Amino acid sequence: MRRTKPRIIFQDIDGCLNPADGEHFSVTPGEPPSPAQAEMLAEINAAVDASPVEHFILNSGRPWNLVEEIAAHLPTRKARYVLLEHACVLFDRESGDYVDCAELASRCDLDELHARYRQVENIHRLFDWYRDQGQARLEKRYQCPLPALDKVGNLSIAVPDTLDGEEFLAAIETLARTQLEPRILEPLQFLRSDRYIDILPGIHKLDGIHLLSAHLKVELDEALAVGDFLNDLPIFEGFPHVMCPANAHPRIQSLTRSKGGHGHVSDKAYGASLLDLLRSMGPSPAASSVA
Ligand SMILES: [Mg+2]
Repeated sequence: MRRTKPRIIFQDIDGCLNPADGEHFSVTPGEPPSPAQAEMLAEINAAVDASPVEHFILNSGRPWNLVEEIAAHLPTRKARYVLLEHACVLFDRESGDYVDCAELASRCDLDELHARYRQVENIHRLFDWYRDQGQARLEKRYQCPLPALDKVGNLSIAVPDTLDGEEFLAAIETLARTQLEPRILEPLQFLRSDRYIDILPGIHKLDGIHLLSAHLKVELDEALAVGDFLNDLPIFEGFPHVMCPANAHPRIQSLTRSKGGHGHVSDKAYGASLLDLLRSMGPSPAASSVA
């Protein structure tokens, strides 16, 4: 277990906030969490508020229309900012609007990140390719509909239940590499979660950690990232302070153990792992001074 208490937590949603049975959150816009999911989120919200953590940042591959109903059950003001679409998009719940990440990176003197956020719009070349060629080729091969999710910063495709995720990922990457120009391909990252193939435009969840830590004036040493699956690899390969739940993919667990005292593999699964961590931190300074 890490020795210092994090001031900021970057929190994955799917696989990390679910109730004890792992029930998947809906992928239908506007559909609220189930009673068991809502109960877990309410417990987490109370634990975040009671903890010394100052900022609780959801950091998900989902777009806002698939996070909004979950975030509604996390009303704590510590969860003001939400990183979406693998940190290609940042939403400010206080203003109710998206934040210009390139401009924010520039204000935070993160010049290299500023340059990469400016390239996010190149993802539209990938969207065009998938709409005009890629989707039809894959649907013909697999004989099932393979629509892209309604996103602005990633190309994401649900993995049909009948397909193996690794094989599907390899097929999409091979097809893209034979059909797209090298300058469009060069920054792309091909990842998969337990339910989606995600193609990222050279921005990923770890960039969101750097961006918001700088914006909120929190040292990276005081940040903790929580994730569970292969779409979190850029974080678990590149960031030293991590936690994963007991249900995390074996590779994520292995990377977490490789961090020594900074990595923590919880013996609890799903949202219970976060509850366990938050409760182990003790009360917030404000709460303890009142007590
Ligand atoms: Mg996940």
